[in-house]
Amino acid sequence: MPVENPIAVPSRPAQRRIIAEIVSIGDEITSGAILDTNAQYLSRSLSEIGVRVLYHSTIGDDLEAMTEAFALAFRRAEVVVVTGGLGPTQDDLTREVASRTLGAELTFDPDSFAHIESLFARRGRVMTDSNKVQAYFPLGSRVIRNPNGTAPGFFFEGSRSQTTDKKDFIALFFPGVPAELREMWNGPDGRAAVERFANRLLDGRRPIYRSKTIRAFGAGESALEARLPNLIARDHVPTVGITAKDAIISLRILAEGATEADCERQIEETSRFIYDRVGEFVFGEDDETLPSIVCRSLRAQCLRVGVLEWGARGFLATKIENDVLSFARIYGESERDEFERLFPTPESTSANVDILKDNASGATFGPSSVVTTEISDALRSTLATLDPNVAFCLAVGPYPLPRDATACDADASESRTVVAFVDLRDPERPTVRLETFVFGGHPAVVDALFCNRALDALRKYQ
Ligand code: ATP
Ligand code: MG
Repeated sequence: MPVENPIAVPSRPAQRRIIAEIVSIGDEITSGAILDTNAQYLSRSLSEIGVRVLYHSTIGDDLEAMTEAFALAFRRAEVVVVTGGLGPTQDDLTREVASRTLGAELTFDPDSFAHIESLFARRGRVMTDSNKVQAYFPLGSRVIRNPNGTAPGFFFEGSRSQTTDKKDFIALFFPGVPAELREMWNGPDGRAAVERFANRLLDGRRPIYRSKTIRAFGAGESALEARLPNLIARDHVPTVGITAKDAIISLRILAEGATEADCERQIEETSRFIYDRVGEFVFGEDDETLPSIVCRSLRAQCLRVGVLEWGARGFLATKIENDVLSFARIYGESERDEFERLFPTPESTSANVDILKDNASGATFGPSSVVTTEISDALRSTLATLDPNVAFCLAVGPYPLPRDATACDADASESRTVVAFVDLRDPERPTVRLETFVFGGHPAVVDALFCNRALDALRKYQ
C-alpha cells in the first residue's frame, strides 16, 4: 500500500523565475589549469535569492569568442555575471568586450583612478600606464569597489529591446581572484544589486527564499528516499533536493514564500516530517559535518579521542581538531601485525572468528565479551605510551591501497578493513563497537566512508 505523505501539497503555478548566466573568462580555466570555483560560488548564491542559473559559459582570452559569448548571454539571460579578465595586461579583454557588446563607450572614472593610485602608493609600487586602463568603465555603468585589489568591478543595467527603455537585464563584472570576487559580491553592489534589479523587474512581487539542509549518514540515498515518499518530487512544496557525497546524504529544503514566516513554516513542517521518518540517521544541519559535531560534543564534555590508523597518512586524525585529539598513531605497512593484534579481523584472529564473522556488518561488545577483553587487553600497553587516560579510541585500518599499488600485493583487494570504536571512560568496563568491511568501490571514496563510519560511531555511542 502506498504510504501517504501528510505534507504533500498540490503543485502550484510556477513562479516567474529570473534567468541568469555565469560567464567565466580565462585561458587558465579553458586549458584545465584551474577549476572554475567562481561559477560554483555564484550559482549557489544566486539560487539562494531565487534566481535560476540556467547557463554557465567558460571562454578563453579571445576577443572574438568573448564578444560572441557576451552578446549571447545578454540576449538569453536577465542576470549575467562575468568574472575574470579585468586585469591591466593585454590578455585582459573583459572591459573592452563589455563596452562593445553593451554599446557603451569606455569612460574614465577619476574616483577609481584615485583609488588605484593610492593602492600603489600604499604598497610602495610604481603605477604603470596599463593600470590606468582599470579606471575606465562602459558609460552608464556603476563601479563596484574592490577594497583589496587594483581591478574594480562594475555593473550595467540595460534594455534588450530598442522599443522600450525598461531596464530588463543586468550585467555584473568582477575580477577573477576568488577572494576579491566574494568580498565584492557580498558588498552593496554585488548580490544586493541583483536583488534590487529583480524586485524592480517583478514589481516587488519577488518571493522570498529560505533554505535548510539536513545531513544524514548511515543509510543509502535510495533507502532514505524510499522512506520519504513524494518529498523529492519536483512539484513538492517546498522543494527538497537530495545529494550524496562520501556517503553523507544531504536533504536541502528550499522554501519559496511571500513572507519570511511563510518560508519558516514550510521548512519547519518539512523538517519535522524528515526527522520523523529518518531522524535516526540525521546528524546535523546546514554547515555541520560529522567531524564538527563530534568535536563539539567532545569539547563540551572535556573529553578527548585517540586515533589509530593503518595507512592513508592519518586520514581520520586530520578530521579531528587538535584540542580534542589526544593522539594519532599511524601504522605503516610493516606494522601490519601489530595493528591486527589490536584490532583483529575475522581473517587475523583465531579466537573470535565466529563472533566477528557473524557480526561482519557491525556489533557492540559489552564489558564482559571476549572481543572486548581481547581488544582492551591488547590496547593497554599501546595506550600506556600514548595516553592511558584517553576517553575514546577510534581505529581504522587498513585503508585500501591506491589502485596502482595493489598489483604488488595480491591480497590487498580481498582484505577487510576494521572500523572500531572503543569506549574507555570507565577503565574497568570498556565497551567496543566493531565493524568490518570488505573493500568495494574506489579507494578514495572508501577512505572517506571508513572515516565517516568511525566518526558516526563516536557520535552515536559516546
Ligand atoms: P587580475 O587583476 O588579478 O589579473 P582579473 O580580473 O584579470 O584580475 P584573472 O586574471 O582572470 O582576473 O584571474 C586572476 C586569478 O584568479 C587567476 O590566476 C586564477 O587563479 C583566479 N581565477 C580567475 N577566474 C577564476 C574562476 N572562474 N574560478 C576560480 N579562480 C579563478
Ligand atoms: Mg588577469
